[in-house]
Amino acid sequence: FLKSSEPSDFTNGGEEDEEEGLIVLVIGGGGREHAICYALQRSPSCDAVFCAPGNAGISNSGNATCISDLDISNSSAVISFCQIWAVGFVVVGPEAPLVAGLANDLAGIPTFGPSSEAAALEGSKDFMKRLCFKYGIPTAKYKTFTDPTAAKQYIEDQGAPIVIKADGLAAGKGVVVAMTMEEAYDAVDSMMVQNVFGSAGTRVVVEEYLEGEEASFFAMVDGETALPLESAQDHKRVGDGDTGPNTGGMGAYSPAPILTEELKSLVMRSIILPTVKGMSAEGCKFVGVLYAGLMIEKKTGLPKLIEYNVRFGDPECQVLMVRLESDLAQVLLAACRGELSKVSLEWSPGSAMVVVMASRGYPGSYEKGSIVRNLEEAELVAPSVKIFHAGTSYDSYGNFIADGGRVLGVTALKRQEIEHTMLLKQSTGLRVSSDEILDGGR
Ligand code: AMP
Repeated sequence: FLKSSEPSDFTNGGEEDEEEGLIVLVIGGGGREHAICYALQRSPSCDAVFCAPGNAGISNSGNATCISDLDISNSSAVISFCQIWAVGFVVVGPEAPLVAGLANDLAGIPTFGPSSEAAALEGSKDFMKRLCFKYGIPTAKYKTFTDPTAAKQYIEDQGAPIVIKADGLAAGKGVVVAMTMEEAYDAVDSMMVQNVFGSAGTRVVVEEYLEGEEASFFAMVDGETALPLESAQDHKRVGDGDTGPNTGGMGAYSPAPILTEELKSLVMRSIILPTVKGMSAEGCKFVGVLYAGLMIEKKTGLPKLIEYNVRFGDPECQVLMVRLESDLAQVLLAACRGELSKVSLEWSPGSAMVVVMASRGYPGSYEKGSIVRNLEEAELVAPSVKIFHAGTSYDSYGNFIADGGRVLGVTALKRQEIEHTMLLKQSTGLRVSSDEILDGGR
């Protein structure tokens, strides 16, 4: 599993106190975790990357050694694994193990990802809203209910459109933007009476409807300080042209033009930093990625916080990781140690895009088991194309097969100098062949 000493085109910035020979364990098994493993494997300071449970493509790509039988819900098993394999730090990809307290249990092993108390920013909408109001962070006005009759009375007083949110984790499905009173009452009934989200819906947040354009914002946080990441935007609807039902995300690009430098600095000042300070003041320091869902309000042009996630978005992580030029292992370790103020992030100046390939039927019911072909050929089209695996496994003949809703993230990086070369050739009348365009970053 040890990395060969192949030369890398990434630098570690020449810092003298950086650690080398790091062994890292990544928790999770989706496209996001594949992208994190890919970036860690390219980190000069990182000697080995494990991923649990990982997936078929992560092991096949050589980006990490997958430990498919490590039970990530069993903290003792994870700790034993770390001790046996001298794991220097752990990166937790998905929200569920964070909310369940994996980072708390790993105390003693540096872990990139918040404690369960801090993960409540995603795990409880009510917690997030209370923090916002206490620390003056702009967000929609709201009220929280445990009684459906009281919730309906509030909805009647406020009128539609109005937004109903299950308090707990509901796999991204716990929000109803109700355009009519009937829809709002139905949402209350399904969450609080029929319990479609189980205990996640016993408490609901009823929230003011905000009108505007949505944007995502990512920052790396070390408990006291925050470092903004490059902008990235996903698209959630399953169909072309943003049509059809919502999914976990069908594609993303970076940079995202909606996040201007001015807007980024406003979001840092008015939303991210007050959150980091507020969490620290509340005694639950946040370490990890803060992913803010924002509404840039139509009437004011100012950002309001819609939601927090406590980890990288997927598929946004895929475009961010192919653009990142810094040593990811050093950056994540600095966050774990509260030393982000010493770090600056380097990004490829070009642009990146990922298109998700999903099983037919997703996000509804879909069949598993179809064979996925020609993956190596696809990556050979251009070195700038990287295929990240989400729901894949092997059949008994060794073929890749689809084993989930979202199956692959086909990601491409277009470096700026390539665009410039092409523009120059075009403007000077030189022929640009389709091969050259396909070759992209070669
Ligand atoms: P959330 O899971 O809180 O991000 O909500 C999912 C989606 O619901 C968001 O991406 C928005 O499109 C929409 N949404 C959430 N809260 C509001 C709100 N207060 N006003 C309008 N739309 C909202």
